[in-house]
Amino acid sequence: MSKPKFRRLALIGIGLIGSSIALAARREGLADEIVISTRSEHTLRRAEELNLGDRYCLDAADAVAGADLVILCVPVGASEAIAKWIAPALAPGAIISDVGSTKSSVVRQMQPHLPANVHFIPGHPIAGTEESGPDAGFPELFRNRWCILTPVEGTDEDALARLSGFWEALGSMVEVMDHEHHDLVLAIVSHVPHIIAYNIVGTADDLEAVTKSEVIKYSASGFRDFTRIAASDPTMWRDVCLHNKDAILEMLSRFSEDLAALQRAIRWSDGAALFELFSRTRDIRRSIIEAGQDTAVPNFGRDTKDAAEASDAN
Ligand code: NAP
Repeated sequence: MSKPKFRRLALIGIGLIGSSIALAARREGLADEIVISTRSEHTLRRAEELNLGDRYCLDAADAVAGADLVILCVPVGASEAIAKWIAPALAPGAIISDVGSTKSSVVRQMQPHLPANVHFIPGHPIAGTEESGPDAGFPELFRNRWCILTPVEGTDEDALARLSGFWEALGSMVEVMDHEHHDLVLAIVSHVPHIIAYNIVGTADDLEAVTKSEVIKYSASGFRDFTRIAASDPTMWRDVCLHNKDAILEMLSRFSEDLAALQRAIRWSDGAALFELFSRTRDIRRSIIEAGQDTAVPNFGRDTKDAAEASDAN
C-alpha cells in the first residue's frame, strides 16, 4: 500500500511517543505540516529547539484547526479534558486518534465529546522505553513493533486504512482489535509486569535485613532488570492503573493464585513442578526472540564493554 499523505498532522503532547511520531512522520514525509501542542511552555520550547515540528501552539484547539490527522500523546487520564477542548475546533472528516496504553477508558472519555463528522480511531503503539519527554524520542521507536488500533462501531473503512497506512509507514505492523480485548491482553503483557516490577523494587527498598547498598551492588543477579521497568514514568503508570482497573485486577488475581502455587511447590520441595514451570517459561522467551520482538544477544543486548565500565565505576 502506498504511504498516506496528510495535509496537517497535529500532535497533542510531545513526550517520548509524540516526539518519536513527529520525527518518523517527518522522515517519511507523511504530512505537509506538523503542528505541536503541549500544556507547558517549557516542553513546547524544548520541542521547538529540537525542531520536532513546523508550528507550536500552547492552545490545543489552535493546533487541531485544519488538521486532517490529530493524535493525542498524553497520559490517558488527560484524554477527556483534551477531547472537550479540541472538539469545537476539529475539521470535518479529520481522523482523531491517540496512543494511550489503555483503550476502553479513552473511548469512554473522548467519544461523547467528539463531533459526529470526524473519524475517531483510538490506537496504541506497543513500543516504548522507560524515558520520557521530548528529548527521549527517536524515529526508529516503532520499527518492527505492533500498533493496535481499536476502532469503534461504524468506523469508516477508508479512515481506518489511512491511519493503518500511517503507522505502517512509521515502521509498525498494525493489528485491529476490540478495545475491551486490548485492555485484557495489555493487562497481562504490560500492565501487570510493570506493577510487579514496581512492587519488587519497592519491597527491596523497604527491606531492613538487606542494606540498600547490597541491593545495588549485587543487582546484576536479576533485580537490575526489574529496575529498568520500575523506572518508567510515574504519571503515565498511575493513569494506566487507574484506567484499566478491572482487567488489571483480574490478571493480578490470576497471578496471585499462580504465585501461591509456586510458593507451595518451593515449600514442599516439588522440584518436578518447579522444573516444568521454568522450562515452559523459557520456551516463551525463545518464541519472543523468534518473533523478532527481542534480541537473543547475551545480557539482553547490553553492550558488554559499557556494562563492564559501569560496574568498574561502582
Ligand atoms: P511523556 O514522555 O511523559 O510525555 C507526556 C506528554 O503529555 C507531555 O507533552 C506532557 O506535557 C503532556 N501531559 C502530561 N500530563 C498532561 C495533562 N494532565 N494534560 C495535558 N497534557 C499532559 O509520555 P509518553 O511516554 O510519550 O506517553 C504518552 C502516552 O503514550 C501515554 O498515554 C502512554 O500511556 C502512551 N504510551 C507510552 C509508552 C511508553 O513506553 N512511554 C508506550 C506506548 C504508549 P508537558 O511536558 O508540557 O507537561
